[in-house]
Formats: sequence, C-alpha cells, structure tokens
Amino acid sequence: MATNNQPRIERQVLLFELDRRCLFADCNHHVFIGLTKQEAMEYRGFECSACLRWNDDNLIRKDVPEWWEEIQANQDQAVH
Ligand SMILES: [Zn+2]
Repeated sequence: MATNNQPRIERQVLLFELDRRCLFADCNHHVFIGLTKQEAMEYRGFECSACLRWNDDNLIRKDVPEWWEEIQANQDQAVH
C-alpha cells in the first residue's frame, strides 16, 4: 500500500529571473535564469543555453533588491 501520500505543504517558492547575456562575444546570447532564493545564495554564474559555455557571474543588488542583504550575509559565511 502506498503510504507516501501525505499532502505536500506547498511552501511558497520564490523564484526570480535574471536577464543576462552570454559574455562570449561570438555568442552574446540572451539568457534567462530562474533562481530560487537558495540558488541565489550559491549563484556564481550560469551556463549559456546557446553555446553551453560557463559564464562567471555574480548577483548585483538590482537583481535581488529584497533579498540582497540576506544573500550577502549568507555569502559572507561561505567565503573562504
Ligand atoms: Zn553563449
């Protein structure tokens, strides 16, 4: 009998979108990146969806105005 049937509590997953361009000049693809708050805290870049190369990137305050201080606080702890 299936017992994994508990109602899931849908926590409000906040997702925000970054609007970026691939940093490689020969690509310059427009990339949208959806991040949860948790992912935002660990965000260090993105893989371009067109050329699949890694783009080093960081959030700026404008990306996450509401979470900025919280994210910064968490990132500070992770700095090595
Ligand atoms: Zn690219």
